[in-house]
Amino acid sequence: MHKFSASLLKSGRRFTFNGLTKFTAKLFPSQCLLCACSLSGELLCANCQHDLPHTYGQLLCCQCGLRIESLSNFCGSCLHHPPAFSRSFLPFSYQHPIDHLIHKFKYRHNLTCGKLLGKMLADYLKHYAQDQVDWQTPDLIIPVPLHWMRRWQRGFNQAEILAQYVADELAIPMATKIVQRTHKTPPQKGLSRIERQKNLRKTFAINSKYLSNIKDKHVVLMDDVVTTTATVRELSELLIRAGAKDVQVWALARTM
Ligand SMILES: [Zn+2]
Ligand SMILES: [Zn+2]
Repeated sequence: MHKFSASLLKSGRRFTFNGLTKFTAKLFPSQCLLCACSLSGELLCANCQHDLPHTYGQLLCCQCGLRIESLSNFCGSCLHHPPAFSRSFLPFSYQHPIDHLIHKFKYRHNLTCGKLLGKMLADYLKHYAQDQVDWQTPDLIIPVPLHWMRRWQRGFNQAEILAQYVADELAIPMATKIVQRTHKTPPQKGLSRIERQKNLRKTFAINSKYLSNIKDKHVVLMDDVVTTTATVRELSELLIRAGAKDVQVWALARTM
């Protein structure tokens, strides 16, 4: 009897302590988001930061950021079907643990993960992208829009949150009203390149009230992950046709 109540008390105390730790950590994150080691304010420890699937230093297609084997600057897809965007800046390949962090942010509404991802993207753009000889600070950042219903269901647009961090850090204006997603995109999986492009036609529209905001401007399209490039191809074509001078793609990660 005595033994039994002692163990109950012990497990009860442990539960309360864990609950309190989780509660405090949620309010004041002081643990690494990946390995849970203790940190003084940072969101990721140096070891986890080092082990992330960085694209820096790899051979990548100059235009779409896909990993390439040869020393030619472009992947086969960009060589044969050049997109309307001129280049891409993508700090990570979409694999573990970046996929896990993006998933937690996007589908489990973990805004601390969103903060970490936004900060890492802004840091990459400040430290590596701006080192490029042909770097030109864009005039405008446009986050890839979600259909209003998807946005309402999710409660936020992940691309917009990332764009806001980058816009603040690099002092570039962000515009959310110029491009709208007018239709929900049917599933793209299993479709050929041409079918995917067809699928996306008429999905996006430019609000004619804001045409002067993009005329002759250097525009950035911001997304969380670039997979098939179909979305950014469609949107960049639309922006160039509407008078933008140059369109670049900035995103957190690229499927390779
Ligand atoms: Zn860690
Ligand atoms: Zn490419």
